[in-house]
Amino acid sequence: MQEKLNELKTRLAEWADLGRASAVLGWDQQTYMPPGGGAARAQQLALLRRLAHERFTSDALGRLLDDLSGDAASLPYDSDDASLIRITKRDYDKARKVPPKLVAEMATASAHAFQAWQKAKAASRFADFAPFLQRNLELRRELAQCLGYTDRIYDPLLDQFEPGMKTAQVEAIFANVRKEIVPLVHAIAKKANAVDDKFLHQAFAEKKQWDLGIEAVKLMGYEFERGRQDRAPHPFTTTFAVDDVRITTRFLPKFFNAAFFATMHEGGHALYNQGTRPELERTTIGGAASLGVHESQSRMWENMVGRSRAFWKYFMPHAKKVFPRQLQGVSAEKMYRAINRVQPSLIRVEADEVTYNLHIMLRFELENALLENRVAVNDLPQVWNAKMQEYLGVTPPDDAQGVLQDIHWSYGTFGYFPTYSLGNFFAAQLFDQIARDIPDLDARFERGDLRVLLDWLRANVHTHGRKFTLDELANKVTGESLQTRSFVAYLQSKFGEIYKV
Ligand code: ZN
Repeated sequence: MQEKLNELKTRLAEWADLGRASAVLGWDQQTYMPPGGGAARAQQLALLRRLAHERFTSDALGRLLDDLSGDAASLPYDSDDASLIRITKRDYDKARKVPPKLVAEMATASAHAFQAWQKAKAASRFADFAPFLQRNLELRRELAQCLGYTDRIYDPLLDQFEPGMKTAQVEAIFANVRKEIVPLVHAIAKKANAVDDKFLHQAFAEKKQWDLGIEAVKLMGYEFERGRQDRAPHPFTTTFAVDDVRITTRFLPKFFNAAFFATMHEGGHALYNQGTRPELERTTIGGAASLGVHESQSRMWENMVGRSRAFWKYFMPHAKKVFPRQLQGVSAEKMYRAINRVQPSLIRVEADEVTYNLHIMLRFELENALLENRVAVNDLPQVWNAKMQEYLGVTPPDDAQGVLQDIHWSYGTFGYFPTYSLGNFFAAQLFDQIARDIPDLDARFERGDLRVLLDWLRANVHTHGRKFTLDELANKVTGESLQTRSFVAYLQSKFGEIYKV
Protein backbone atom coordinates (compact mmCIF):
# COMPACT_ATOMS: atom_id res chain seq x y z
CA MET A 1 0.00 0.00 0.00
CA GLN A 2 2.79 2.42 0.95
CA GLU A 3 4.28 2.29 -2.51
CA LYS A 4 0.97 3.10 -4.17
CA LEU A 5 0.30 5.85 -1.67
CA ASN A 6 3.66 7.40 -2.48
CA GLU A 7 2.87 7.25 -6.18
CA LEU A 8 -0.48 8.94 -5.53
CA LYS A 9 1.25 11.71 -3.57
CA THR A 10 3.84 12.24 -6.31
CA ARG A 11 1.14 12.53 -8.96
CA LEU A 12 -0.95 14.90 -6.85
CA ALA A 13 2.07 17.08 -6.07
CA GLU A 14 2.62 17.74 -9.77
CA TRP A 15 -1.09 18.34 -10.33
CA ALA A 16 -1.12 20.78 -7.40
CA ASP A 17 1.90 22.63 -8.81
CA LEU A 18 0.08 23.18 -12.09
CA GLY A 19 -2.80 24.69 -10.12
CA ARG A 20 -0.49 26.94 -8.15
CA ALA A 21 1.23 28.09 -11.34
CA SER A 22 -2.20 29.04 -12.71
CA ALA A 23 -2.83 30.95 -9.51
CA VAL A 24 0.33 33.02 -10.02
CA LEU A 25 -0.80 33.93 -13.54
CA GLY A 26 -4.31 34.71 -12.28
CA TRP A 27 -2.99 36.91 -9.46
CA ASP A 28 -0.82 38.87 -11.89
CA GLN A 29 -3.77 39.23 -14.27
CA GLN A 30 -5.80 40.96 -11.56
CA THR A 31 -3.01 43.08 -10.08
CA TYR A 32 -0.15 44.13 -12.38
CA MET A 33 -0.74 42.83 -15.93
CA PRO A 34 -1.16 45.59 -18.53
CA PRO A 35 -4.42 45.33 -20.51
CA GLY A 36 -2.49 44.21 -23.60
CA GLY A 37 -1.49 41.00 -21.85
CA GLY A 38 -5.05 39.70 -21.68
CA ALA A 39 -5.22 37.51 -24.79
CA ALA A 40 -1.89 35.75 -24.23
CA ARG A 41 -2.69 35.25 -20.56
CA ALA A 42 -6.01 33.61 -21.39
CA GLN A 43 -4.16 31.08 -23.60
CA GLN A 44 -1.53 30.36 -20.95
CA LEU A 45 -4.15 29.84 -18.27
CA ALA A 46 -6.25 27.62 -20.52
CA LEU A 47 -3.21 25.41 -21.23
CA LEU A 48 -2.28 25.02 -17.56
CA ARG A 49 -5.87 24.25 -16.60
CA ARG A 50 -6.18 21.68 -19.38
CA LEU A 51 -2.95 19.99 -18.33
CA ALA A 52 -4.08 19.91 -14.71
CA HIS A 53 -7.48 18.49 -15.69
CA GLU A 54 -5.88 15.82 -17.91
CA ARG A 55 -3.52 14.73 -15.16
CA PHE A 56 -6.23 14.63 -12.57
CA THR A 57 -8.61 12.56 -14.71
CA SER A 58 -6.04 10.11 -16.09
CA ASP A 59 -6.85 6.39 -16.16
CA ALA A 60 -3.65 5.72 -14.22
CA LEU A 61 -4.80 7.90 -11.32
CA GLY A 62 -8.17 6.15 -11.38
CA ARG A 63 -6.57 2.69 -11.12
CA LEU A 64 -4.38 3.88 -8.28
CA LEU A 65 -7.41 5.22 -6.40
CA ASP A 66 -9.38 2.02 -6.96
CA ASP A 67 -6.50 -0.03 -5.55
CA LEU A 68 -6.09 2.26 -2.58
CA SER A 69 -9.77 2.70 -1.73
CA GLY A 70 -9.97 -0.83 -0.33
CA ASP A 71 -6.94 -0.24 1.89
CA ALA A 72 -8.29 3.09 3.10
CA ALA A 73 -11.19 1.30 4.78
CA SER A 74 -8.76 -0.15 7.33
CA LEU A 75 -7.45 3.30 8.30
CA PRO A 76 -9.16 5.73 10.70
CA TYR A 77 -11.64 7.93 8.74
CA ASP A 78 -9.97 11.19 9.79
CA SER A 79 -6.35 10.06 9.32
CA ASP A 80 -4.35 11.98 6.71
CA ASP A 81 -3.99 8.99 4.41
CA ALA A 82 -7.61 7.79 4.53
CA SER A 83 -8.80 11.36 3.99
CA LEU A 84 -6.40 11.88 1.10
CA ILE A 85 -7.72 8.77 -0.66
CA ARG A 86 -11.38 9.52 0.12
CA ILE A 87 -11.32 13.18 -0.97
CA THR A 88 -9.21 12.52 -4.06
CA LYS A 89 -11.62 9.74 -5.10
CA ARG A 90 -14.59 12.06 -4.55
CA ASP A 91 -13.01 14.79 -6.68
CA TYR A 92 -11.80 12.31 -9.29
CA ASP A 93 -15.23 10.73 -9.76
CA LYS A 94 -16.76 14.16 -10.23
CA ALA A 95 -14.06 15.37 -12.63
CA ARG A 96 -14.35 12.22 -14.76
CA LYS A 97 -18.04 12.86 -15.33
CA VAL A 98 -17.33 16.13 -17.13
CA PRO A 99 -16.22 15.74 -20.77
CA PRO A 100 -13.12 17.83 -21.65
CA LYS A 101 -15.14 19.38 -24.47
CA LEU A 102 -17.63 20.80 -21.97
CA VAL A 103 -14.80 22.09 -19.76
CA ALA A 104 -13.35 23.94 -22.75
CA GLU A 105 -16.77 25.29 -23.83
CA MET A 106 -17.47 26.60 -20.36
CA ALA A 107 -14.06 28.30 -20.21
CA THR A 108 -14.52 29.98 -23.59
CA ALA A 109 -18.11 31.02 -22.90
CA SER A 110 -17.22 32.56 -19.56
CA ALA A 111 -14.24 34.44 -21.03
CA HIS A 112 -16.61 36.04 -23.56
CA ALA A 113 -19.35 36.55 -21.00
CA PHE A 114 -16.91 38.28 -18.64
CA GLN A 115 -15.95 40.79 -21.35
CA ALA A 116 -19.61 41.35 -22.22
CA TRP A 117 -20.55 41.77 -18.57
CA GLN A 118 -17.88 44.43 -17.99
CA LYS A 119 -19.18 46.47 -20.93
CA ALA A 120 -22.84 45.90 -20.11
CA LYS A 121 -22.25 46.96 -16.52
CA ALA A 122 -20.40 50.12 -17.60
CA ALA A 123 -23.32 50.99 -19.90
CA SER A 124 -25.87 49.66 -17.38
CA ARG A 125 -27.60 47.67 -20.13
CA PHE A 126 -28.58 44.14 -19.10
CA ALA A 127 -29.82 43.31 -22.61
CA ASP A 128 -26.20 43.38 -23.88
CA PHE A 129 -25.23 40.70 -21.36
CA ALA A 130 -28.37 38.54 -21.64
CA PRO A 131 -27.29 36.27 -24.56
CA PHE A 132 -23.99 35.51 -22.81
CA LEU A 133 -25.75 34.72 -19.56
CA GLN A 134 -28.13 32.49 -21.50
CA ARG A 135 -25.17 30.58 -22.90
CA ASN A 136 -23.51 30.21 -19.47
CA LEU A 137 -26.80 28.96 -18.11
CA GLU A 138 -27.24 26.34 -20.84
CA LEU A 139 -23.71 25.05 -20.25
CA ARG A 140 -24.35 24.81 -16.49
CA ARG A 141 -27.53 22.82 -17.14
CA GLU A 142 -25.41 20.49 -19.25
CA LEU A 143 -22.81 20.33 -16.47
CA ALA A 144 -25.49 19.42 -13.94
CA GLN A 145 -26.72 16.62 -16.23
CA CYS A 146 -23.17 15.27 -16.53
CA LEU A 147 -22.58 15.36 -12.78
CA GLY A 148 -26.00 13.86 -12.17
CA TYR A 149 -28.68 14.56 -9.56
CA THR A 150 -31.83 12.99 -8.21
CA ASP A 151 -33.68 15.90 -6.66
CA ARG A 152 -32.77 19.38 -7.91
CA ILE A 153 -30.70 20.55 -10.85
CA TYR A 154 -29.02 23.01 -8.47
CA ASP A 155 -27.67 20.19 -6.27
CA PRO A 156 -24.60 19.20 -8.31
CA LEU A 157 -23.72 22.86 -8.95
CA LEU A 158 -23.90 23.74 -5.25
CA ASP A 159 -21.90 20.59 -4.48
CA GLN A 160 -18.93 21.96 -6.46
CA PHE A 161 -18.46 24.69 -3.87
CA GLU A 162 -20.06 23.15 -0.78
CA PRO A 163 -19.55 19.38 -0.93
CA GLY A 164 -22.43 17.40 0.50
CA MET A 165 -24.83 20.34 0.86
CA LYS A 166 -28.28 20.03 -0.77
CA THR A 167 -30.50 22.74 -2.25
CA ALA A 168 -33.45 21.76 -0.06
CA GLN A 169 -31.25 22.06 3.04
CA VAL A 170 -30.20 25.58 2.05
CA GLU A 171 -33.83 26.52 1.36
CA ALA A 172 -34.87 25.37 4.83
CA ILE A 173 -31.96 27.19 6.49
CA PHE A 174 -32.65 30.40 4.56
CA ALA A 175 -36.39 30.31 5.34
CA ASN A 176 -35.56 29.96 9.01
CA VAL A 177 -33.15 32.87 9.08
CA ARG A 178 -35.33 35.10 6.91
CA LYS A 179 -38.30 34.93 9.25
CA GLU A 180 -36.06 36.18 12.09
CA ILE A 181 -34.13 38.81 10.15
CA VAL A 182 -36.95 40.57 8.32
CA PRO A 183 -38.66 41.80 11.55
CA LEU A 184 -35.26 42.97 12.82
CA VAL A 185 -34.63 44.92 9.59
CA HIS A 186 -38.06 46.57 9.90
CA ALA A 187 -37.59 47.44 13.56
CA ILE A 188 -34.18 48.99 12.85
CA ALA A 189 -35.54 50.90 9.83
CA LYS A 190 -37.86 52.80 12.19
CA LYS A 191 -34.78 54.00 14.08
CA ALA A 192 -32.57 54.64 11.08
CA ASN A 193 -31.13 57.83 12.61
CA ALA A 194 -30.08 56.25 15.90
CA VAL A 195 -26.57 55.69 14.56
CA ASP A 196 -24.42 58.45 13.09
CA ASP A 197 -21.62 57.39 10.76
CA LYS A 198 -21.02 60.69 8.94
CA PHE A 199 -17.39 60.89 10.12
CA LEU A 200 -16.63 57.65 8.26
CA HIS A 201 -17.56 59.39 5.01
CA GLN A 202 -14.79 61.91 4.52
CA ALA A 203 -11.34 61.98 2.93
CA PHE A 204 -8.98 59.27 4.23
CA ALA A 205 -5.57 59.32 2.50
CA GLU A 206 -4.96 56.05 0.69
CA LYS A 207 -1.43 55.54 2.01
CA LYS A 208 -2.70 55.88 5.57
CA GLN A 209 -5.60 53.51 4.94
CA TRP A 210 -3.04 51.03 3.63
CA ASP A 211 -0.90 51.38 6.77
CA LEU A 212 -3.80 50.96 9.17
CA GLY A 213 -5.03 47.86 7.34
CA ILE A 214 -1.55 46.34 7.50
CA GLU A 215 -1.43 47.04 11.23
CA ALA A 216 -4.74 45.23 11.69
CA VAL A 217 -3.80 42.10 9.72
CA LYS A 218 -0.44 41.90 11.47
CA LEU A 219 -2.28 42.01 14.79
CA MET A 220 -4.47 39.14 13.51
CA GLY A 221 -1.32 37.10 12.93
CA TYR A 222 -0.95 37.35 9.15
CA GLU A 223 2.74 36.82 8.40
CA PHE A 224 4.33 39.06 5.77
CA GLU A 225 7.37 36.80 5.52
CA ARG A 226 4.89 34.33 4.04
CA GLY A 227 2.62 36.76 2.23
CA ARG A 228 2.13 40.22 0.78
CA GLN A 229 -0.64 42.65 -0.02
CA ASP A 230 -1.36 44.35 -3.34
CA ARG A 231 -4.18 46.37 -4.84
CA ALA A 232 -6.98 44.79 -6.89
CA PRO A 233 -10.39 46.10 -8.05
CA HIS A 234 -12.15 43.09 -6.46
CA PRO A 235 -10.22 42.01 -3.35
CA PHE A 236 -9.28 38.33 -3.17
CA THR A 237 -6.81 35.98 -1.50
CA THR A 238 -4.67 33.52 -3.40
CA THR A 239 -2.28 30.75 -2.41
CA PHE A 240 0.89 29.73 -4.24
CA ALA A 241 2.19 27.66 -1.32
CA VAL A 242 1.62 27.51 2.43
CA ASP A 243 4.54 29.93 2.74
CA ASP A 244 3.25 32.29 0.03
CA VAL A 245 -0.36 33.33 0.67
CA ARG A 246 -1.26 36.73 -0.80
CA ILE A 247 -4.03 39.19 -0.12
CA THR A 248 -5.37 42.13 -2.11
CA THR A 249 -7.43 45.15 -1.16
CA ARG A 250 -9.01 48.24 -2.68
CA PHE A 251 -9.56 51.80 -1.49
CA LEU A 252 -12.40 54.28 -1.53
CA PRO A 253 -10.88 57.74 -0.98
CA LYS A 254 -13.89 59.01 1.00
CA PHE A 255 -15.08 56.04 3.02
CA PHE A 256 -13.20 54.42 5.86
CA ASN A 257 -14.91 50.99 5.93
CA ALA A 258 -14.26 49.72 2.42
CA ALA A 259 -10.53 49.10 2.59
CA PHE A 260 -10.23 48.47 6.31
CA PHE A 261 -12.80 45.70 6.50
CA ALA A 262 -11.91 44.22 3.10
CA THR A 263 -8.34 43.92 4.38
CA MET A 264 -9.42 42.17 7.57
CA HIS A 265 -11.73 39.94 5.51
CA GLU A 266 -9.00 38.82 3.14
CA GLY A 267 -6.64 38.53 6.09
CA GLY A 268 -9.09 36.02 7.59
CA HIS A 269 -9.04 33.95 4.40
CA ALA A 270 -5.24 34.13 4.32
CA LEU A 271 -4.79 32.99 7.93
CA TYR A 272 -6.71 29.83 7.04
CA ASN A 273 -4.37 29.13 4.12
CA GLN A 274 -1.22 30.03 6.05
CA GLY A 275 -2.43 27.56 8.66
CA THR A 276 -2.32 24.54 6.36
CA ARG A 277 -0.17 21.80 7.88
CA PRO A 278 2.99 21.39 5.75
CA GLU A 279 2.30 17.62 5.45
CA LEU A 280 -0.90 18.42 3.53
CA GLU A 281 0.87 20.68 1.03
CA ARG A 282 0.65 19.69 -2.64
CA THR A 283 -2.22 17.27 -2.04
CA THR A 284 -6.00 17.45 -2.51
CA ILE A 285 -6.54 17.98 1.23
CA GLY A 286 -4.40 21.08 1.83
CA GLY A 287 -6.53 24.22 1.48
CA ALA A 288 -10.04 24.86 2.76
CA ALA A 289 -12.81 22.39 3.56
CA SER A 290 -15.25 24.30 1.35
CA LEU A 291 -16.10 27.83 0.30
CA GLY A 292 -18.56 28.09 3.18
CA VAL A 293 -15.88 27.19 5.71
CA HIS A 294 -13.46 29.59 4.01
CA GLU A 295 -15.98 32.40 4.30
CA SER A 296 -16.63 31.54 7.96
CA GLN A 297 -13.00 32.45 8.62
CA SER A 298 -13.00 35.75 6.72
CA ARG A 299 -16.34 36.87 8.13
CA MET A 300 -15.36 35.98 11.67
CA TRP A 301 -12.26 38.20 11.50
CA GLU A 302 -14.07 40.96 9.63
CA ASN A 303 -17.26 41.08 11.70
CA MET A 304 -16.96 39.24 14.99
CA VAL A 305 -13.51 40.69 15.61
CA GLY A 306 -13.24 43.78 13.37
CA ARG A 307 -16.74 45.03 14.12
CA SER A 308 -16.64 44.22 17.84
CA ARG A 309 -16.62 46.65 20.74
CA ALA A 310 -13.71 44.86 22.41
CA PHE A 311 -11.46 45.19 19.35
CA TRP A 312 -12.09 48.93 19.06
CA LYS A 313 -11.41 49.49 22.74
CA TYR A 314 -7.90 48.35 21.91
CA PHE A 315 -7.54 49.62 18.35
CA MET A 316 -9.07 53.11 18.55
CA PRO A 317 -5.86 54.85 19.75
CA HIS A 318 -4.02 53.22 16.82
CA ALA A 319 -6.61 54.44 14.33
CA LYS A 320 -6.52 57.93 15.85
CA LYS A 321 -2.77 58.08 15.54
CA VAL A 322 -3.09 57.48 11.79
CA PHE A 323 -6.19 59.69 11.31
CA PRO A 324 -6.02 62.30 14.12
CA ARG A 325 -8.12 64.89 12.29
CA GLN A 326 -10.83 62.60 10.90
CA LEU A 327 -11.32 60.75 14.19
CA GLN A 328 -10.97 63.72 16.49
CA GLY A 329 -13.46 63.42 19.34
CA VAL A 330 -14.63 59.97 18.21
CA SER A 331 -14.73 57.52 21.10
CA ALA A 332 -14.29 53.76 20.71
CA GLU A 333 -18.00 53.42 21.47
CA LYS A 334 -18.97 55.93 18.77
CA MET A 335 -16.73 54.08 16.31
CA TYR A 336 -18.29 50.75 17.25
CA ARG A 337 -21.79 52.06 16.59
CA ALA A 338 -20.84 53.80 13.35
CA ILE A 339 -19.16 50.80 11.72
CA ASN A 340 -22.23 48.73 12.59
CA ARG A 341 -24.79 51.06 11.05
CA VAL A 342 -27.61 49.14 9.39
CA GLN A 343 -28.95 50.46 6.11
CA PRO A 344 -30.84 48.40 3.51
CA SER A 345 -28.90 49.09 0.33
CA LEU A 346 -28.56 48.08 -3.30
CA ILE A 347 -25.09 46.59 -3.34
CA ARG A 348 -24.32 43.23 -1.72
CA VAL A 349 -20.64 43.83 -0.98
CA GLU A 350 -21.48 47.03 0.89
CA ALA A 351 -24.29 45.47 2.93
CA ASP A 352 -24.25 45.43 6.74
CA GLU A 353 -24.38 42.20 8.74
CA VAL A 354 -28.16 42.34 9.22
CA THR A 355 -29.20 42.77 5.60
CA TYR A 356 -26.32 40.94 3.89
CA ASN A 357 -27.90 37.50 3.79
CA LEU A 358 -31.09 38.84 2.20
CA HIS A 359 -28.96 39.75 -0.84
CA ILE A 360 -27.73 36.16 -0.95
CA MET A 361 -31.19 34.64 -0.57
CA LEU A 362 -32.40 36.69 -3.53
CA ARG A 363 -29.56 35.41 -5.74
CA PHE A 364 -30.03 31.83 -4.59
CA GLU A 365 -33.75 31.93 -5.44
CA LEU A 366 -33.12 33.50 -8.84
CA GLU A 367 -30.41 30.98 -9.75
CA ASN A 368 -32.81 28.15 -8.97
CA ALA A 369 -35.62 29.81 -10.91
CA LEU A 370 -33.37 30.32 -13.94
CA LEU A 371 -32.04 26.77 -13.93
CA GLU A 372 -35.52 25.32 -13.50
CA ASN A 373 -36.94 27.54 -16.26
CA ARG A 374 -39.29 29.36 -13.92
CA VAL A 375 -37.78 32.72 -14.87
CA ALA A 376 -36.50 33.67 -18.34
CA VAL A 377 -33.14 35.45 -18.65
CA ASN A 378 -34.77 38.44 -20.34
CA ASP A 379 -37.13 38.95 -17.42
CA LEU A 380 -34.34 38.86 -14.86
CA PRO A 381 -34.01 42.63 -14.23
CA GLN A 382 -37.72 43.02 -13.44
CA VAL A 383 -37.75 39.98 -11.17
CA TRP A 384 -34.56 41.17 -9.47
CA ASN A 385 -35.97 44.63 -8.82
CA ALA A 386 -39.25 43.27 -7.49
CA LYS A 387 -37.44 40.99 -5.05
CA MET A 388 -35.14 43.80 -3.89
CA GLN A 389 -38.25 45.81 -3.06
CA GLU A 390 -39.83 42.86 -1.28
CA TYR A 391 -36.77 41.90 0.80
CA LEU A 392 -34.98 45.19 1.37
CA GLY A 393 -37.47 47.89 0.51
CA VAL A 394 -35.21 49.44 -2.15
CA THR A 395 -35.41 49.39 -5.95
CA PRO A 396 -32.29 49.68 -8.11
CA PRO A 397 -32.41 52.77 -10.35
CA ASP A 398 -30.50 50.91 -13.09
CA ASP A 399 -29.12 47.47 -14.02
CA ALA A 400 -25.55 48.33 -12.96
CA GLN A 401 -26.71 48.77 -9.37
CA GLY A 402 -29.06 45.82 -9.70
CA VAL A 403 -28.82 42.60 -11.63
CA LEU A 404 -25.42 43.40 -13.19
CA GLN A 405 -23.54 44.19 -9.96
CA ASP A 406 -21.84 40.82 -9.32
CA ILE A 407 -19.14 39.14 -11.36
CA HIS A 408 -20.29 35.55 -10.60
CA TRP A 409 -22.82 34.94 -13.35
CA SER A 410 -20.39 36.19 -15.99
CA TYR A 411 -18.02 33.42 -14.90
CA GLY A 412 -20.95 31.00 -14.92
CA THR A 413 -20.51 30.16 -11.25
CA PHE A 414 -24.05 29.16 -10.31
CA GLY A 415 -24.24 27.55 -6.87
CA TYR A 416 -21.54 29.76 -5.35
CA PHE A 417 -23.59 32.52 -3.66
CA PRO A 418 -25.13 30.43 -0.85
CA THR A 419 -21.66 29.67 0.51
CA TYR A 420 -21.36 33.32 1.62
CA SER A 421 -24.34 32.94 3.94
CA LEU A 422 -23.39 29.45 5.09
CA GLY A 423 -20.06 31.00 6.05
CA ASN A 424 -21.80 33.71 8.10
CA PHE A 425 -23.91 31.14 9.94
CA PHE A 426 -20.98 28.80 10.57
CA ALA A 427 -18.82 31.68 11.83
CA ALA A 428 -21.40 32.43 14.52
CA GLN A 429 -21.69 28.75 15.46
CA LEU A 430 -17.91 28.49 15.80
CA PHE A 431 -17.74 31.74 17.72
CA ASP A 432 -20.21 30.44 20.33
CA GLN A 433 -17.94 27.45 20.82
CA ILE A 434 -14.90 29.71 21.06
CA ALA A 435 -16.62 31.84 23.71
CA ARG A 436 -17.28 28.67 25.73
CA ASP A 437 -13.67 27.52 25.35
CA ILE A 438 -12.10 30.94 26.02
CA PRO A 439 -14.29 32.69 28.63
CA ASP A 440 -12.12 35.84 28.75
CA LEU A 441 -12.09 36.33 24.97
CA ASP A 442 -13.39 39.93 25.12
CA ALA A 443 -10.86 40.91 27.77
CA ARG A 444 -8.11 39.47 25.59
CA PHE A 445 -9.33 41.41 22.54
CA GLU A 446 -9.40 44.59 24.63
CA ARG A 447 -5.70 44.04 25.33
CA GLY A 448 -5.01 43.51 21.62
CA ASP A 449 -4.49 39.77 22.06
CA LEU A 450 -6.02 38.33 18.88
CA ARG A 451 -3.48 35.54 18.82
CA VAL A 452 -5.66 33.56 21.20
CA LEU A 453 -8.35 33.34 18.52
CA LEU A 454 -5.90 32.38 15.79
CA ASP A 455 -4.44 29.63 17.97
CA TRP A 456 -7.94 28.20 18.55
CA LEU A 457 -8.77 28.29 14.83
CA ARG A 458 -5.44 26.70 13.95
CA ALA A 459 -6.03 23.83 16.37
CA ASN A 460 -9.71 23.26 15.63
CA VAL A 461 -10.28 24.25 11.99
CA HIS A 462 -7.12 24.97 10.00
CA THR A 463 -5.34 21.77 10.99
CA HIS A 464 -7.95 19.62 9.23
CA GLY A 465 -7.39 21.18 5.82
CA ARG A 466 -9.89 19.77 3.34
CA LYS A 467 -10.53 16.47 5.12
CA PHE A 468 -14.11 17.16 6.19
CA THR A 469 -17.29 18.65 4.78
CA LEU A 470 -18.76 21.69 6.51
CA ASP A 471 -21.23 19.47 8.33
CA GLU A 472 -18.59 16.98 9.44
CA LEU A 473 -16.44 19.83 10.70
CA ALA A 474 -19.39 21.42 12.51
CA ASN A 475 -20.11 18.16 14.30
CA LYS A 476 -16.50 17.58 15.16
CA VAL A 477 -15.84 21.06 16.51
CA THR A 478 -19.19 22.10 18.01
CA GLY A 479 -20.92 18.75 18.55
CA GLU A 480 -23.81 19.50 16.19
CA SER A 481 -24.63 20.04 12.52
CA LEU A 482 -24.62 23.47 10.93
CA GLN A 483 -27.27 25.57 12.72
CA THR A 484 -28.47 29.17 12.43
CA ARG A 485 -29.52 29.67 16.07
CA SER A 486 -26.13 31.14 16.96
CA PHE A 487 -26.19 33.57 14.04
CA VAL A 488 -29.71 34.83 14.74
CA ALA A 489 -28.93 35.24 18.45
CA TYR A 490 -25.72 37.10 17.58
CA LEU A 491 -27.59 39.58 15.35
CA GLN A 492 -30.45 40.07 17.79
CA SER A 493 -28.16 40.68 20.71
CA LYS A 494 -25.64 42.93 18.94
CA PHE A 495 -28.06 45.05 16.92
CA GLY A 496 -30.82 44.90 19.50
CA GLU A 497 -28.46 46.67 21.87
CA ILE A 498 -27.14 49.19 19.33
CA TYR A 499 -30.62 50.14 18.07
CA LYS A 500 -32.59 49.38 21.26
CA VAL A 501 -35.08 47.17 19.42
ZN1 ZN B 1 -14.57 36.11 1.30
